[in-house]
Amino acid sequence: MSENKLAIVTGGSRGIGREIVYALAGQGRTVVALATNQERLDALQSEAKEKGYDILVKAVDVTDSEQLTEVIQGLADEHGGVGILVNNAGITRDGLMMSMSDEAFDQVIETNLKSAFVAIRAALRSMIRNKFGRIINISSVAGVMGNAGQTNYAASKSGLIGMTKSLAREVARKNVTVNCIAPGFIATDMTDVLPDKVKEGATAMIPMQKMGQAEQIAHAAAYFASDQASYTTGQVLCVDGGMAM
Ligand code: NDP
Repeated sequence: MSENKLAIVTGGSRGIGREIVYALAGQGRTVVALATNQERLDALQSEAKEKGYDILVKAVDVTDSEQLTEVIQGLADEHGGVGILVNNAGITRDGLMMSMSDEAFDQVIETNLKSAFVAIRAALRSMIRNKFGRIINISSVAGVMGNAGQTNYAASKSGLIGMTKSLAREVARKNVTVNCIAPGFIATDMTDVLPDKVKEGATAMIPMQKMGQAEQIAHAAAYFASDQASYTTGQVLCVDGGMAM
């Protein structure tokens, strides 16, 4: 277990982020879940309490760079630095390239990619000072292999991979690791809204022929956060039932 126990998870209120919150809390860390919806955050906090975990929650829109920076720097000041940062908040605004609006492109890039840049920049000084940090970026198989109808989303997720590898090289000597998880097709609110036909088509592309569960992504995040992963950096771990191999 690392010295600094503070773990911040963006988009921690539900889906994959929620399971990552529980996995890191289970490692004995002080976990802060960030998301926009205060009610969902409060519900998570109460539910976690019932399970015996004291998690912290904070409503923040990750596309508001100033607010996100302030929140992360404030948490770092309070807790002697950030130990683990999981950039998980993400959205989709799918559509064909020819008819995609600037807004759909910009929203996805700002939520999925720029927020990770802003959050990392806010946390990194304390990680370097403490000579410890674990940065985990939640990418997607779409960022590895592309996906028709998701040019904006895939660009954001490939961007995270490039950022991960570049930053991993920058900070490797400071005992700060930077890794990506590329989930496949996971059962959450994000995929629940897809028409059955799309779900069937996506499942057919998966060698295991089934969707994954958010907990399976959380296990990968717990690994990257752990001391067992201390010599692992700049990696992209696809957790996808074999989809992107
Ligand atoms: P969900 O839609 O279930 O949850 C998204 C989370 O992100 C929520 O907690 C949401 O909270 C938060 N969020 C969204 N926008 C913002 C924002 N502007 N500011 C702060 N928080 C925000 O998504 P998943 O759990 O499915 O996805 C999590 C991550 O995994 C995403 O990055 C996604 O791209 C990636 N992924 C998911 C896959 C899947 O199949 N589900 C596959 C590959 C990657 P709130 O709405 O309350 O703000």
